[in-house]
Amino acid sequence: MQVIRLEALSDNYIFLLHDPRLNIAAVVDPAEAKPVLKKLNELQAELVTIFNTHHHHDHVGGNKQLMKQFPNLKVYGGAEDNGRIPGQQMFLQEGDKVSFADRTAEVLFIPGHTRAHIAYYFAPENLEETGELFCGDTLFAGGCGRLFEGTPSQMVNSLSKISALPDNTRIWCAHEYTLKNLQFAITVDGDNTDLQKRYDEVKASRNRQEATVPSMLGIEKRTNPFMRWQEQALQSAVKSNDPVQTFARLRGMKDSF
Ligand code: ZN
Ligand code: FE
Repeated sequence: MQVIRLEALSDNYIFLLHDPRLNIAAVVDPAEAKPVLKKLNELQAELVTIFNTHHHHDHVGGNKQLMKQFPNLKVYGGAEDNGRIPGQQMFLQEGDKVSFADRTAEVLFIPGHTRAHIAYYFAPENLEETGELFCGDTLFAGGCGRLFEGTPSQMVNSLSKISALPDNTRIWCAHEYTLKNLQFAITVDGDNTDLQKRYDEVKASRNRQEATVPSMLGIEKRTNPFMRWQEQALQSAVKSNDPVQTFARLRGMKDSF
């Protein structure tokens, strides 16, 4: 399975999963149909599945048009998103298994950004490979999604679930927010040398107009303040010794950063 990253809208990423042997494809969070149709045409592949992580327009905006082009297409989303995702046919819950070509993904229920948000996790097939996590707007490279419909404690739970996956899991998040996220991270975790190094690397990548997605879970755990609420440095930065309160205060600071 190949993962192809497509740019959409102002800063969204759409991910196309392609199986070259069967010549079929699936798409994660098609913000718009155009870039997806263009790539499918290049590959001469048939689109069989849409995997939606949540109902926001910049994640489902292309559903209807893609369904028109591919009438047999199946549209997956979270059970709690029933009625909010255009064309949704499959209603997924924590632990459900979904397949694409010869690969199977496990569904993680990760509310917080929205109350219905899910992620799709493809475990590696062998030890040399990476796992693939499609996590929408929950975990970002260097940051996390805003809490539109959830509480800090829900988000901490959701991020903990992601944190429990293997370190060599690639994080396919839906926006290019990394540089801004790390600019904030530096203000609360400035002594973290892994973070300083990552910030320099990301700044250089963005100067060359390169994408910073996917990132890797191990790096997120070492540098992303929203995965580090249990760390002394972050707790002192927000004057708390409670993990959920630490997360909530960091999220509040980032909202107005
Ligand atoms: Zn969203
Ligand atoms: Fe989004």
